[in-house]
Amino acid sequence: MTASYDVDNIFAKILRGEIPCHKVFEDDNAIVFMDVMPQSTGHTLIVPKAPSRNLLDADAGVLSAIIPLIQRVAIAAKSAFGADGITFMQFNEGAGGQTVFHLHFHVIPRFEGEALKSHGRGMEEPGVLAANAEKLKAALAALD
Ligand code: 5GP
Repeated sequence: MTASYDVDNIFAKILRGEIPCHKVFEDDNAIVFMDVMPQSTGHTLIVPKAPSRNLLDADAGVLSAIIPLIQRVAIAAKSAFGADGITFMQFNEGAGGQTVFHLHFHVIPRFEGEALKSHGRGMEEPGVLAANAEKLKAALAALD
C-alpha cells in the first residue's frame, strides 16, 4: 500500500518558508529552486505547490499546468549554463528512486562527455548554488 502525503516533507517545509532554498522563480502554482546535491552544474527542481506525493497521485490539471514551466526552465538552464543538452527526470516512490515525497521534476543541464553525478549525494557550496540561481533567474527573464 502506498503511504499518504506527509505535510512535513522537506519540500512542503520549503514551500511554507520554514526551510531556505536558492529560489529561482515562484508563482501561484509552483516554485523553482536549485537542488542542494546537484548531479550536474545547474541542477534545478520544479515543485508544484499542490500537495501530492508524486506523479501517481497528482491532479491532472496540476500536471498540465506545470509542463510549460518545466519547458521554460529547461530552455533557460541550457542557455544559462552553456549546456549541450538537458536531462529531465522524475521519480515515483522509493522503489522508483524517489527520496523526497512531494511531487517534483528535475531539470539537469548536461555537458558533452560529462557523466551525471550520483543522485542525492554530495552537497554543493551555498555560494555556488546562489550564483547558479542568479544565472538561471537572468536567463528566465531573458525569455520574456
Ligand atoms: P527525488 O529522489 O525525490 O526525486 O529527489 C529529491 C532531490 O531533492 C534530490 O536530488 C536531492 O538532492 C534534493 N534535495 C534533498 N533535500 C533537499 C533540500 O533540503 N533542499 C534542496 N534544494 N534540495 C534537496
